[in-house]
Amino acid sequence: MLKVAKFGGSSLSSSEQFEKVKGIIESDPARRVVVVSAPGRQNSEDNKVTDLLYLCNAHLKYDVSYDSIFEMIEERFMDIRRGCGLQTDLDAEFDLIRSKLHKGMSVDYLVSRGEYLNGKLMAEYLGFHFVDAADVMLFKYDGHVDYDRTNAAIGEALERYGSIVIPGFYGSLPNGEIRTFSRGGSDVTGAIVSAALNADVYENWTDVSGILMVDPHIVEDPKSISKVTYDELRELSYMGAAVLHEDTVFPVRRKNIPVNIRNTNAPEDPGTIIREAFDKGDEDNSTRFITGITGKKDFSTFDVYCNHNESVMKIVQEALSLCGRYGFQPEQLMSGIDSFSLVFPSAELSRSRYEFAGELKNIPGVDDINIQDGISLIAIVGRQMAYRSGISGKIFQALGEENISVSMIKQSADEINIMVGVYTDDFKKAIRTLYDSFA
Ligand code: ASP
Repeated sequence: MLKVAKFGGSSLSSSEQFEKVKGIIESDPARRVVVVSAPGRQNSEDNKVTDLLYLCNAHLKYDVSYDSIFEMIEERFMDIRRGCGLQTDLDAEFDLIRSKLHKGMSVDYLVSRGEYLNGKLMAEYLGFHFVDAADVMLFKYDGHVDYDRTNAAIGEALERYGSIVIPGFYGSLPNGEIRTFSRGGSDVTGAIVSAALNADVYENWTDVSGILMVDPHIVEDPKSISKVTYDELRELSYMGAAVLHEDTVFPVRRKNIPVNIRNTNAPEDPGTIIREAFDKGDEDNSTRFITGITGKKDFSTFDVYCNHNESVMKIVQEALSLCGRYGFQPEQLMSGIDSFSLVFPSAELSRSRYEFAGELKNIPGVDDINIQDGISLIAIVGRQMAYRSGISGKIFQALGEENISVSMIKQSADEINIMVGVYTDDFKKAIRTLYDSFA
């Protein structure tokens, strides 16, 4: 049994957090591979070390003194070292980094040092071997990961050392230069390492007990999702539920490795399991058919009513090419027998929306158009909704009882997502109503 445990910045922001991590690792001998982020915020006034490193770079570039920022960074690591009683020679590390600080330096090198130093400290603290990501996370010159070399290098490192700590977020190019992923990229490192080692599970430790069914700013203390499929997660993330770096999914999904989102501050909570599919007998509660509810505000809809002289499909085609000419990208297209609606994020419609509307109305076969602003889209996502009858009826009933009018509805082909459009004034109320009715 092998578990790869990746810890995010908030899980590693102080020596107290380091202690919790150590407890988690030592409680399960399968946790032999640890991937770390840089120290995150300790409280809402604090800074993430990675942000400070980027700031340091900006100061360097504009010839402004970066000393005070660099000292803040040093202090963060010194505090952790002191609190955990460690020996790692941070002074030598800082001297080396300082010696490389100059205007033309590689930004990637500088900003990767948060993960690098945290990895060094964590390795000493756990008694694991430190494996520099520059030696095992290997990029090609085009910026893509060289999976063949990377997988081999990670496999060899684990075989040689038995239990290892690898810093997240960065790797190296063939010439040895440091290269980072985009922000939040330690998730991606964890996924690639898990896939390379064929881990039994990829544990992603953060500061919440899994993915919540609904935005906690809208519903107080919502339930968390115990199991979610990749397809459901994609639907939920697309509509706004941010969980993992978007590139995290591919390496682990391909190998069918489950991802377990866990809470460092509540390690006894089981968190959320993400995987391709769950066995029928494995589903926890057959009456709970909704996995999550999410939504986005501020859309505009263009409803197009057609006469019977032209086929709707032909008019849709012309409308889409018109969108192309105006550079407007519809987020959704919903069509009926004699009409269809194009849904755009309002912010993306430039001032030429009126000219666009005029041309839309002039398409042969169009009778009339109707423009509505202030529309919100709500996605009700659940694999257990598929192929069940009466679900949309229940959704309409619940919303109708609260006098929330639905301006449109769409179901995905695989039936795991029902999307409804409501007026933005009703957005929060609609989400609460759906949550209360189905969670
Ligand atoms: N420390 C990096 C960031 O803040 C990477 C990560 O934490 O995943 O973006």
